[in-house]
Amino acid sequence: MPIRRLPEGLVNRIAAGEVVERPASAVKELVENSLDAGAARIEVGLRDGGRTLIAVSDDGCGMGADDLVLCLERHATSKLADDDLTRIATLGFRGEALPSLAAVSRLTLTSRAAGADEAWSIGVEGGEMGELRPAAHPRGTRVEVRDLFFATPARLKFLKGTPTEVGHIVDVVGRLAMARPDVAFSLTDEGRALLSLPATAGDLTGSPDAGLRRIGAVVGKDFAANAVTVEAERDEYRLSGHAGVPTHHRRTTAHQFLFVNGRPVRDRLLHGAIRGAYQDLLASDRHPAVVLFLDLPAELVDVNVHPMKTEVRFRDAGLVRGLIVSALKHALAAAGHRSAPRAMPWPANGGLGAGGLGVGGRGGGAAPSGPSPAAAGLALAFAAPLPGGLAEAAAPFEGVAASMQASSAGDPAGDTPAGDIPPLGFARAQLHGTYIVAQSADGMVIVDQHAAHERLTHERLKRALHAGGVPRQVLLLPEVVELDAASIDRLTRRAEELTALGLVLEPFGPGAVVVREVPALLGPVDARGLITDLAEDLAELGEAVAMGERLSRVCASMACHGSVRAGRKLSIDEMNALLREMERTPHSGQCSHGRPTWVELKRSDIERLFGRR
Ligand code: ADP
Ligand code: MG
Repeated sequence: MPIRRLPEGLVNRIAAGEVVERPASAVKELVENSLDAGAARIEVGLRDGGRTLIAVSDDGCGMGADDLVLCLERHATSKLADDDLTRIATLGFRGEALPSLAAVSRLTLTSRAAGADEAWSIGVEGGEMGELRPAAHPRGTRVEVRDLFFATPARLKFLKGTPTEVGHIVDVVGRLAMARPDVAFSLTDEGRALLSLPATAGDLTGSPDAGLRRIGAVVGKDFAANAVTVEAERDEYRLSGHAGVPTHHRRTTAHQFLFVNGRPVRDRLLHGAIRGAYQDLLASDRHPAVVLFLDLPAELVDVNVHPMKTEVRFRDAGLVRGLIVSALKHALAAAGHRSAPRAMPWPANGGLGAGGLGVGGRGGGAAPSGPSPAAAGLALAFAAPLPGGLAEAAAPFEGVAASMQASSAGDPAGDTPAGDIPPLGFARAQLHGTYIVAQSADGMVIVDQHAAHERLTHERLKRALHAGGVPRQVLLLPEVVELDAASIDRLTRRAEELTALGLVLEPFGPGAVVVREVPALLGPVDARGLITDLAEDLAELGEAVAMGERLSRVCASMACHGSVRAGRKLSIDEMNALLREMERTPHSGQCSHGRPTWVELKRSDIERLFGRR
């Protein structure tokens, strides 16, 4: 068959396959165009999840009659004025979106250029251009995409149900809106408001407050309440944004919003850096929520990687990764013992009946995904609906009053001025041999003693290691642990590294190792459990990785097996010592698996429980 040049309509349909995957990608391209046009207000209207109509209106610079025709041509753009692909400052630059949409839908453009007296309109259907007509329209542009994919039925078949497509559109508009709190956005589906985001007032633009308010409006207020501020600079790179505390973890990375020079991106390198920063704070199947803006000179990042423009390549990927990891670690460490205890403001009007109270910030938030088992357990105690559930709700506190009176004598909290009460308060009682109840300046704190102790041990181990070695304790009765051959092999090969961590073991005939010394600061150790877990850790690490790189993981396993087990009775002094150490220790707000180690009930929360407010 002879080679031929494909007709323009077909070329555009092929391009459309890459650029416009689904209604959400059409919305993304159109909203990006509005932002590039300098709009202060952008309205998106949908019908049938965008399938029969997507309409985007803006008050941007608009287009004159000539441009209205030209913009429908392939690779026609106003955004590469000097043909320089290395300094792209706009969201668009490929000149592909409008011709692509025109090839696969019934498209109408109506626009009035800034300063012009008249507006113009043009329609295209399946690539066939209609006539340019005068129209009535204020300054700005309105683009209507009807019957998307009517010209490419194969693609039409791949669309999901309306709620799914609408969900993607909300996500796309939300992401773009997060980067531009100075622009007003609205998104409606057949008149129903899905997003309504007023522009932040005046000179607040770019201020962290304005940004956080917009972020809260898009991703939910509970994120805003559970996030720490991230700010870092290195050379010409600047990172800013907000990072969720580890207890605010999610099932997927869908709550990681990343922007490079204001462009929403999905980038493996960036997600990997975030994973690295939270590595020893979260279980491996949980993900933090973050909103991060990376700004750098345009020539240091290539955005011309993929037609959808959501992938980027950095000139210096190592620097970017390092910046993100250190900035996040720093911000999280500065958050100190903060857990997610007061995260979600409790329902203001006795909202107990409506879905229950949140504990650890997960109860009433915007569609929290999968609270950890620990938090779910806690929430249960409070989540019983009124009125029948009140007794249950109060049940965990039986006996608190009694021990409060019993223990307050001789305890400093009794007459310490509120200002001098430490953040986690003074211990008052231990419940079920598992929970420490403390009185804080303005409420009560409940600590999961096992989770807290595990975390503290983890941090102590890490410190000891950095200080040159973990002190060891000789077991009076060396413990023999039976294991499969592969595990024994793995452990004995790493024996030297394990010794540095305070663990001395050697092979013991076929099918066993003998443990002779353990890290002293673990206290009494469940050697069997520890060795079994370590063997699994090592299997997962693989041969190539030096243990030093994943030490925190190993430390976490050790801490887990040496910690004060739930069920151990503690004296008031021991409990207070634990609380004070938590306050001093970075990351002590969550255990190594990302569960909170403590929660606080403010006095006002308690009053609400009893209907006093
Ligand atoms: P690109 O955005 O990559 O330039 P598009 O096909 O999306 O390509 O748009 C082509 C051109 O049409 C843009 O460069 C711009 O000049 C013009 N344009 C598109 N949308 C708008 C709009 N909402 N307001 C003003 N001009 C627009
Ligand atoms: Mg564009």
